[in-house]
Amino acid sequence: MREPQLRIAGRARPGRDRPFDIVDPATAQVLATVPSADADQIAEAAAAAAAAASGWAATPAEERGRLLRDCAAAVRDRAAELTEIVTRETGRVQARNALYVEWVSRLFEHYAELARAERGRIAPSDQAGQLSLVLRVPYGVVAAIVPWNYPLLLFAFKVAPALAAGNALVVKPAPETTLTTLLLGEILDGVLPPGALNVVAGGADVGEAVVRRPEVDLVAFTGSTRVGSRIATVAAELTKPTHLELSGKDPAIVFDDADPELAARGVVWAAFLNAGQVCTSTERVYVARRSYDAFVDSAVGLAAGLRVGDPFDEKTQVGPMRSEGGRRRVMEQIEGAVAAGAELLTGGSAPPGPGFYLEPAVLADVDHGMEIMREETFGPVLPIMPFDDEDQAFRLAADTDFGLGASIYTGDPGRVRRAYEELRVGTVWVNDPLVDNLAAPFGGMGASGSARELGVEGLDAFSTARHVHWNMRLEHKPWWFPPGEES
Ligand code: NAD
Repeated sequence: MREPQLRIAGRARPGRDRPFDIVDPATAQVLATVPSADADQIAEAAAAAAAAASGWAATPAEERGRLLRDCAAAVRDRAAELTEIVTRETGRVQARNALYVEWVSRLFEHYAELARAERGRIAPSDQAGQLSLVLRVPYGVVAAIVPWNYPLLLFAFKVAPALAAGNALVVKPAPETTLTTLLLGEILDGVLPPGALNVVAGGADVGEAVVRRPEVDLVAFTGSTRVGSRIATVAAELTKPTHLELSGKDPAIVFDDADPELAARGVVWAAFLNAGQVCTSTERVYVARRSYDAFVDSAVGLAAGLRVGDPFDEKTQVGPMRSEGGRRRVMEQIEGAVAAGAELLTGGSAPPGPGFYLEPAVLADVDHGMEIMREETFGPVLPIMPFDDEDQAFRLAADTDFGLGASIYTGDPGRVRRAYEELRVGTVWVNDPLVDNLAAPFGGMGASGSARELGVEGLDAFSTARHVHWNMRLEHKPWWFPPGEES
């Protein structure tokens, strides 16, 4: 394997600080050892972005759009390589990763078009002879800090609209998925002007150093609520704006009018996709008591039948978890639920052999007060509890500090309306969980953060409004100090 290289000012540069290991989650073997960026390299990356920002912002939208479409094409050209490396680093099944590589290209194309279409508005003026221009202007330099679970998509959710809006970036990937991000950086850097996109590598210290760089004007972060809160504190001291996309504890409600077997299929998909390591995984399920037994039976059958294994094997449906620590934490959460009275109906154990695999677990008879229903579970666990009436279902679903997404399974428009009016979340999925639409916003509320990505909202997030008040000619205004009375 080639020595992984940072991207700074349009050039490949080996990191000069402490090396860290990237472990293959499917084998537990070290995949690569990557040196971190040192303080000087972080400073150079930020300075390169600052130097590139004004030229990039001044590039006509048509030309920026053309370059973003070239980025999309360059990613497609290297799709096989990207798919292979992201599969090795995440352990997610290869076919899904191939899909995500294509989504990266589509995102660049989407924002290439959107950013061409609009540049602000003209507000009505107070007086004749004036223009009130409301321009959308880029922030300048955006720090993009991303987690390991969706290194391609979450990178593109920020980088494509930030570039489209005219910003330059410094990206800091999660250590676990550094190789994927450096390869993506190399591909895009081959298309973009030098310094428009810089990628540095390292852990929390490198991330925090990027946030603190004076050149950084906006911090866009996706990751845990704990780290998001730390970044918000640092950024607030420096009066820098932040976009935070944080942890979730998404509920699903299965109403009595929904076919329980079919709903179980949707819920099992939403709970075990990417071994449950999705911020919007379904992590707690409330099922109408009338449907409960049928739903639980179906969910257990489906979960037990999932093919867990090598992410490169085409038959595999669920790969390993990303880390030994993550698996241990989830197993502790399952043990805690069982100790508190839940029943583990299938899964929950680590199969023998290497890799961080965990059998998909279904827990029944959980109680809403248990930790497994309140704290994020970043792994393949599906806790289910019955409810007796609609009010109770909505109350339980809403009783959380998190507010990323919620799924409901029903054909009743009244229930759909209650869901979107009463649940304090960024996305409500009705009968079709975990579907993103590039044209519609994605994000959270409360402890899940407040940023919006995708859609027009995801583009607007990377620009701010500037008002230009323009009196067409210089003339004395009645409220100015009268001429000749200055002394
Ligand atoms: P994490 O919060 O541990 O790390 C995220 C990134 O922040 C990494 O790049 C990490 O190196 C960096 N970092 C850590 N400390 C930092 C600091 N003090 N300053 C600057 N950077 C720092 O998250 P993770 O374990 O990589 O990812 C899993 C979490 O991400 C889950 O909680 C999941 O719900 C969340 N997530 C949220 C979304 C969303 O869109 N809301 C999407 C995916 C994942």
